[in-house]
Amino acid sequence: MSKQTDDFFKNIISHAKEYGFVFPSSEIYDGLSAVYDYGQLGSELKNNLKAYWWKAMVQLNENIVGIDAAIFMHPTTWKASGHVDGFNDPMIDNKDSKKRYRADQLIEEKIDRYEKDGKTDKAAQLQKDLDDALNADDLARLKTIIEEHNIVCPVSGTKNWTEVRQFNLMFATQMGAMADGAEQVYLRPETAQGIFVNFLNVQKTGRMKVPFGIAQIGKAFRNEVIARQFIMRMREFEQMELQFFVRPGSELEWYNRWKETRLKWHLALGADPAKYRFHDHVKLAHYANAAVDIEYEFPFGFKEVEGIHSRTDFDLKQHQEYSKKKIQYFDTEINQNYIPYVVETSIGLDRLFLTVLANSLVQEDLSTEDKQDSRVVLKFHPAIAPVKAAVLPLTKKDGLPEKAREIMNSLKLDYNIQYDEKDSIGKRYRRQDAIGTPFCITVDHQSLEDNTVTIRHRDSMEQERVAVDQLGTIIGNRVSLTNLLKELV
Ligand code: ATP
Repeated sequence: MSKQTDDFFKNIISHAKEYGFVFPSSEIYDGLSAVYDYGQLGSELKNNLKAYWWKAMVQLNENIVGIDAAIFMHPTTWKASGHVDGFNDPMIDNKDSKKRYRADQLIEEKIDRYEKDGKTDKAAQLQKDLDDALNADDLARLKTIIEEHNIVCPVSGTKNWTEVRQFNLMFATQMGAMADGAEQVYLRPETAQGIFVNFLNVQKTGRMKVPFGIAQIGKAFRNEVIARQFIMRMREFEQMELQFFVRPGSELEWYNRWKETRLKWHLALGADPAKYRFHDHVKLAHYANAAVDIEYEFPFGFKEVEGIHSRTDFDLKQHQEYSKKKIQYFDTEINQNYIPYVVETSIGLDRLFLTVLANSLVQEDLSTEDKQDSRVVLKFHPAIAPVKAAVLPLTKKDGLPEKAREIMNSLKLDYNIQYDEKDSIGKRYRRQDAIGTPFCITVDHQSLEDNTVTIRHRDSMEQERVAVDQLGTIIGNRVSLTNLLKELV
C-alpha cells in the first residue's frame, strides 16, 4: 500500500470510529481480534443496505422469497456440505515472532514480489508449485516451498518456521447442559446451508416453481487464521445470500444473468464503475462449474465483495444423501423429476459497508483567497444515508427551537432526522457533512413569519429557501429507496 492509500484507509477506520459507525468489539477490554460492533450510525447504514438488498432481491422478483434460518444447525449439515472435512486453511507459525500466517498467502505474496521484480518465469513456476501442493493437500510440500524460496517472517525477519498444519475455520461449541451428553455443534460459517436444508419446506409451502430463489440475510462465523484490514475479514460477519434453483442445463445462462444483475445493483449506489471488476475463478471448487467474484478496488487493492457461483446440484444432492430424504423437484413442464441446479450470489454485508465508506469519504478543500478551509464529507447515496436530514434552529432563543422541533416532529414519522442546536451553524453543517446527512434544514426568524426555511444540500452546499410544506417532497424524492430500486427494473 502506498503511503497515500495507507493514510486514506486509516482515515476511513478513524472516521468510522469517531462518528459512531464502527467500534472495536468490547473495546474497554482492549477489543477482540477481528470482531467489531456497529454504532448508532453504522447500524442505520447497515439496515439501509440490508433493505436495499432485500427489496431488490425479494420484493422485485416474484419468484424469490426470503427466509431467516437459525445459526445453529444439525451437525450433519456440515458433514454433508463438506465443511467438517474441507473448510481448512493451511497455517504456519514463526517461532521467533510467534506470529501465525496462512502458508498459501505467504507464498502468494512471494509470487507478487517476483512479478513486481520482473521475474515472471519464477512467479509462474512458484504459482504452479503452490497449486500442485494445495490440490494434493501436501502440507509438507508447502513448508519446503517456503524454505526453498527463502520466505521470511515479515515481523521477525527469520525463517524459523513450525510445520504447516490444517486449521478448520468453523467455531465449535456444545449444545446441551451436560458436557458428557452434549453434542458438538458449529456456528454456521455461511448462511447458504440454512437455505438448502429448507429447500423442500419453502418450495412446497410457497408453491414455488423452478426457476425460483431463496434469499437470506444473517450472521456467519469463521475462525480466520489471520484477520486484518478492519471489517474486510472478520471472525463474525454478516452475509446476504441468494440460492437460485434452476433446471439442470440452464445454470450457465442464469449465472450470466445474475452476474449482470448484481453488478448493476452495486453500481446503482453511485460508485465509479472503474472501481469494480469481475474476477473469474480459474481453479473451480469441486462442486462448481463456473465462479466469479465481484471485486472492488479498496485502498489495499481489488478484493472480493461478492461471489457468484454456479454450484450445480452438489449441495442438494449431498443433503439428500446424508439425510436420506428425497430432495427433488417435479417439473410439470417437462414431466421430469430432478435435483435442481443452483446459482448462488453471496455478498458480505460488512465488506459492502466498507466499499460504501471508501466510496463516500472525501476531504474537500474549500479555501478561498483570504481563508484556508476544508471539510470532510461522506457522500453516501441519499437512499442509504443513516440520517436523512438535520433540523437546525439558527439560535437557541426567540421560539426558533420550538419551531424546529415542530418541523422535526412532522418529518420524523417518515425519516431518520437529527435535531441540533449546539455551536455555530457552520460547525453544525460540518458535523452533518461528516456523517453524510443529505439535507440540513435551518430555521431562522423569517421562518416564524412566513413558514419557510433554508434547505442546504450536502454535496453542492447550495441553499434554497422553501416552504415548510414542501420539505417532505424535496427530501422524499432524493432519499427514496423506491427511486433507487427503479434504476434496477
Ligand atoms: P475470501 O476469499 O476473501 O476469504 P471467500 O471466497 O471465502 O472470501 P465466500 O465463502 O465466497 O468468501 O463468502 C461470500 C462473501 O462473504 C464474500 O464475498 C465476502 O464478502 C464475505 N466474507 C467471507 N468471509 C468473510 C470474513 N471473514 N469477513 C467478512 N466478510 C466475509
